[in-house]
Amino acid sequence: MPELPEMENYKILLNQKIAGQIITDVQINREKSINLNPDLFMKTVQHQKIITIKRRGKLLLFHLQNGQILLLHLMLGGWMYYGTEEDKPKRTIQVRLSFGEHHLYFIGLRLGYLHLYNSTHTEEHLSHLGPEPLSNDFSINEFKERINHKHGRLKTTLLDQEFIAGIGNYYSAEICYGAGIMPTKDIDDLEEPKREKLYQSIQSILQKGIQNGGYMDNPLFKDDTLTGGFNELCQVYDREGEKCKRCGTIIQMETISSRKTFYCPNCQK
Ligand SMILES: [Zn+2]
Repeated sequence: MPELPEMENYKILLNQKIAGQIITDVQINREKSINLNPDLFMKTVQHQKIITIKRRGKLLLFHLQNGQILLLHLMLGGWMYYGTEEDKPKRTIQVRLSFGEHHLYFIGLRLGYLHLYNSTHTEEHLSHLGPEPLSNDFSINEFKERINHKHGRLKTTLLDQEFIAGIGNYYSAEICYGAGIMPTKDIDDLEEPKREKLYQSIQSILQKGIQNGGYMDNPLFKDDTLTGGFNELCQVYDREGEKCKRCGTIIQMETISSRKTFYCPNCQK
């Protein structure tokens, strides 16, 4: 599932492509992907200019000129492609937004969705989310304060969107590795210096993820060389049986609460 860096990468690139552009056409091939009657959805979205695209946690917000917002959650398996009919991926398209000859294709939206809300309903929808880990307001003190109230396994807490927004299975593994902490570690056993290390690792791993285009397999558009660049920098996620790039120990995988958890038994304590 795309996480904060993947969605931030999409946000940056899509702002370059479609901010200021008018949606000339809307095609809905899967009604379950939207939250309104298709006619109403199309009527509200068509001919609207996209003012800007923002991100909150793992969600993207397409702000329309009429004040309405398209709220996108890709969930598991969802991705996007921007281009012409000619270079569109040979995949089933659930929703298509057109900008003249170019289109934004929403692909793999099985659990994912593109919902239309006004700003009040959008806020309600996002109200449960915890702080943005890369915002200036999210200081080390704020982090310590929040984690002080948490117990149980570190990994479970990192995945909790009410604790911090935007971290999923992939980056939780990389963050724990970066901090040298076992994802199975009980938070109560994390000493002060380790908590600081964890905060630093959250910041640096997520930033590195964004700078390198996240881990999505598919490019966003033709000649997109940025998207997916983080895959090569990944240290533990999905590397079970391979050698740790730092110490050579074999990377292990354990299933915790039905989620695959990867770690280096030597680098992480
Ligand atoms: Zn190692």
